[in-house]
Amino acid sequence: APVLSARSLVASYGRNPALKGVSLQLGRGEILAVTGPSGSGKSTLLMCLAGVVRPDAGEVFYEERRISMESEAERSRLRRRDFGVLFQFGQLVPELTAIENVALPLLLDGSRRGAAMAAATTWLERFEVVGLARTRPTEMSGGQAQRVAVARAMVTEPQVLFADEPTGALDSLNGEQVMTQMSRVVREAGTSVVLVTHDARVAAYGDREIQLRDGQIDGYDGAVDAAHVV
Ligand code: ADP
Ligand code: ADP
Repeated sequence: APVLSARSLVASYGRNPALKGVSLQLGRGEILAVTGPSGSGKSTLLMCLAGVVRPDAGEVFYEERRISMESEAERSRLRRRDFGVLFQFGQLVPELTAIENVALPLLLDGSRRGAAMAAATTWLERFEVVGLARTRPTEMSGGQAQRVAVARAMVTEPQVLFADEPTGALDSLNGEQVMTQMSRVVREAGTSVVLVTHDARVAAYGDREIQLRDGQIDGYDGAVDAAHVV
C-alpha cells in the first residue's frame, strides 16, 4: 500500500485554480520527483499533500487516515510527528547555532535537552557538518546551511519528507552535494520523499517523476507501473 496518496485534488486561490484534479501515490521508501514550470502548481500540491492546506475538493490519504478531512490541530500534530518539511532557504533560526537548530524540533516536541543534542549531533554527522555544530547560519555557506536544514528536517525521523526546491538557492556543485547526501540518508532511513523541483538534474535523484502543467499531471517518467497511476 502507498504511504501517501491523493485523489482528484482541486485547489484555488480565489478564482485562480492552481490544481485541477491531481491524483498520485507515493510508495514506501520512494523518492517521487514533482516537476513542471513555474506556476504549474507544484508548491500548492506539496502543501496539500503535507496537510498544510486543505484542498477545495479531492482527498489526501496518509496511511489509513484521510488527512484532507482532519482539523488543523490534528494535521499540525501529524506534521510535527510524521512529516518533515524542507524549503529552498531561510529556514534556519539565525540566532541559534547549527546544533541548536537541529535539536529544536525535538525540544519543541518535549524531548530532554541532552537527548535532543545527542540526536542533533548524530544527524549533523550524517550530513558531514558536525564541525559546524557551534556555528550560526550566517557564518555558513549556502550549501552548509542547507545540509544543516536537511539534518533538522530528518531529526524527528519523519515517515515522509516534503522538499520544495531544496537546491533552489544553491549553485550546481553545492546542489549536487546536498542531493547526493540527502538521497543516501533518506534511503538508509527508509523515508519516503516528495521532491518538488524545476531542475531535471535534481529530479534525476527520484525513483519516479510526475510532471505538472497548468495544475494537471502532464506526464510520467521513470519506473512507472500501473499501480502508481490512479
Ligand atoms: P509552482 O510551485 O509550480 O510554481 P504554485 O503552486 O506556486 O506553482 O502556483 C500555482 C498557481 O497558483 C500559479 O498560478 C500561482 O500564481 C498561483 N498561486 C500560488 N500561490 C498563490 C497565492 N498565495 N495567492 C494567489 N495565487 C497563488
Ligand atoms: P514557487 O515557484 O517556489 O512556488 P513562487 O515565487 O511561485 O515560488 O511563490 C512564492 C510565494 O508567493 C509563495 O508563498 C506563493 O504562495 C506566493 N504566490 C505565488 N503566486 C502568487 C500570486 N499570483 N499571488 C499571490 N501570491 C502568490
